[in-house]
Amino acid sequence: MRRPLVAGNWKLNGSRATGAALVRAIAGGIERSRAVDVMVCPPFVYLAEIAAALQGTGIWLGAQSVSAESGGAFTGEVAAAMLRDVGCSHVIVGHSERRALFGESDEVVAHKFMAVRAAALQPVLCVGETLDERRQGSTEDVVRRQLEAVLQRISIEKLGSAVIAYEPVWAIGTGQTATPEQAQAVHAFIRGLVAARSARMAAELRILYGGSVKGSNARALFAMPDIDGGLVGGASLDAADFLAICSAASGKT
Ligand code: PEP
Repeated sequence: MRRPLVAGNWKLNGSRATGAALVRAIAGGIERSRAVDVMVCPPFVYLAEIAAALQGTGIWLGAQSVSAESGGAFTGEVAAAMLRDVGCSHVIVGHSERRALFGESDEVVAHKFMAVRAAALQPVLCVGETLDERRQGSTEDVVRRQLEAVLQRISIEKLGSAVIAYEPVWAIGTGQTATPEQAQAVHAFIRGLVAARSARMAAELRILYGGSVKGSNARALFAMPDIDGGLVGGASLDAADFLAICSAASGKT
């Protein structure tokens, strides 16, 4: 049985004060007996401070991106080992905003994935199609290409406890959510791609849905058999909404 995971991607938002308040509210409101793993992904500069605030809460800390390099003359970059050093357990790689706005290719994303694994952290690999690609009927081709770029470079066991997030680009920050059926179809497709290499890894793999998840739509999405929780952007900045999503995921088990 896969334990659900809800991860909040704060993106480029907030301050020391609002981040601390958000974490206090989430930690204070989360059910201790929850049947869901919970994670927050603040901006780099707040990671160490948020790590301290999360002590004893059981809430995980993730980073939103990482360098593919492990160290050296790479001004402005942050290495996976540094993220581990400040208390991260997970790192988002291949978010569509990184792909579209910062030119991260499938190959770069795959190298970031491997850098995260090399630092003994868990990658959260984002895949997903644009609206044009969906309209052209190429959703599966796009998701396959994005996933294969990683799977071709690692042995399937190296997937370890990595997480995959299916995030249709047209649903991110738009308020337009994929229907549970649309999301389920792609999640099942992703699990099938992994199952072709290892049935065991596929059965254990957590596949999150991301794209305008809110307290009001989370339950229906998480009721789908291959949706193992959510990667949440906008709603993760609102403690009450984020807690409602966590509690919807907790009800899945
Ligand atoms: C995201 O950025 O990963 C995301 C899913 O954002 P939102 O929930 O705001 O659509």
